[in-house]
Amino acid sequence: MIALRSRAIVTPSGPLDGYLTIAGDRIHRVGPASDAPASAIDLGTRVLVPGFVDMHNHGGGGAWVTSGRTCDIRRALDAHLTSGTTGIVVSLMSRPFDELVDQLHAVAEVASLDEYNDRVLGVHLEGPFLSPERSGAQPKRHFAMPDVANVRRLLDVAPGLVRMVTLAPELAGAWELIDVLRSEGVVVALGHSAASAEEAVAAYRRGATVATHLWNGMAPIQSRAPGLAGASIANPNVVLELVADGVHIHETNIRMVFDAASADRVAFVTDAAAVAGLPAGEYEVHSSRIAVRDAAFDAETDELLGSTMTMAVAFRRAVREYGLDLAQAATSTSSTPARAIGVRSDRGAIEAGMLADLVVLDSSSLTVEAVVASGDVVSGTLPNH
Ligand SMILES: [Zn+2]
Repeated sequence: MIALRSRAIVTPSGPLDGYLTIAGDRIHRVGPASDAPASAIDLGTRVLVPGFVDMHNHGGGGAWVTSGRTCDIRRALDAHLTSGTTGIVVSLMSRPFDELVDQLHAVAEVASLDEYNDRVLGVHLEGPFLSPERSGAQPKRHFAMPDVANVRRLLDVAPGLVRMVTLAPELAGAWELIDVLRSEGVVVALGHSAASAEEAVAAYRRGATVATHLWNGMAPIQSRAPGLAGASIANPNVVLELVADGVHIHETNIRMVFDAASADRVAFVTDAAAVAGLPAGEYEVHSSRIAVRDAAFDAETDELLGSTMTMAVAFRRAVREYGLDLAQAATSTSSTPARAIGVRSDRGAIEAGMLADLVVLDSSSLTVEAVVASGDVVSGTLPNH
């Protein structure tokens, strides 16, 4: 049994000067420092947070998860794991249905491997039922109208694999699709949409529960037209995804969200492109050129493709730039996304019984020093270990 002691174990009720023990792949006990076993590894002032859960991620380490190749999916998962993301919802984009079937098979194959089983939390289909008016970096030519038969083909690839679908609720047939997805236990998210507030309210009533990258891929809030963004913020049952890399959303809008909604409703996501985690420069990935600056851009058109961030950066920015405390930052990088996708019974917090997915952070720089996944140290080292 491993025991870890730290002055700042970030539990749901706040930082604890305490210890935790790990038995097998689970957290066995969490308690005050006075009860720590003598064998406990002393992390000193290092901060211990729950492994990050990223519910919206397209790639990293130079690989897209959408290539259909298992080696690329593994490379992206490995890159994000090194920076503390112990659970990822693999996000696919709008493609022809046959191609999506192939991509789903590739994800299923990786998820079946022991090494990745606990790391892959399912697939997020970001499309193809999206609005051409709010396409963002999504390829409009592959957009489709809601189509239950083709969705069933995707759901049939592997039971439970498709965890979430982002759709534009104003499209004809969207409501029937929401009904089908909900009856299959799939989380419905609204995004890449020109929906009015009224259309969004109706879709949330119908069973949607998540706003996909709030502020991006939707109309801005206007005095008489709050739109999908306003309807999402105003609904206490909706989880709000934020790409808080300093490029996608103005800082004021992020602070406004936290004034309106607690960390329990906000999920930081990376929406990461293949180049996430790579230093600034130009990269060739699958015969397209991507420029990395403060985000990922198409090197030819300069169009914003996605973020280059990791969840560790999201955590650090939450504390440094947006003034969240450690418990709030841990909630929005782990607990809230875990709850939004229905895996909160196993992860998202440092509590007895949870999967032992942990990140050790330097107390001043908040950079990742070590990562524990399912009870094993998978990156970095623990002191004297
Ligand atoms: Zn995305």
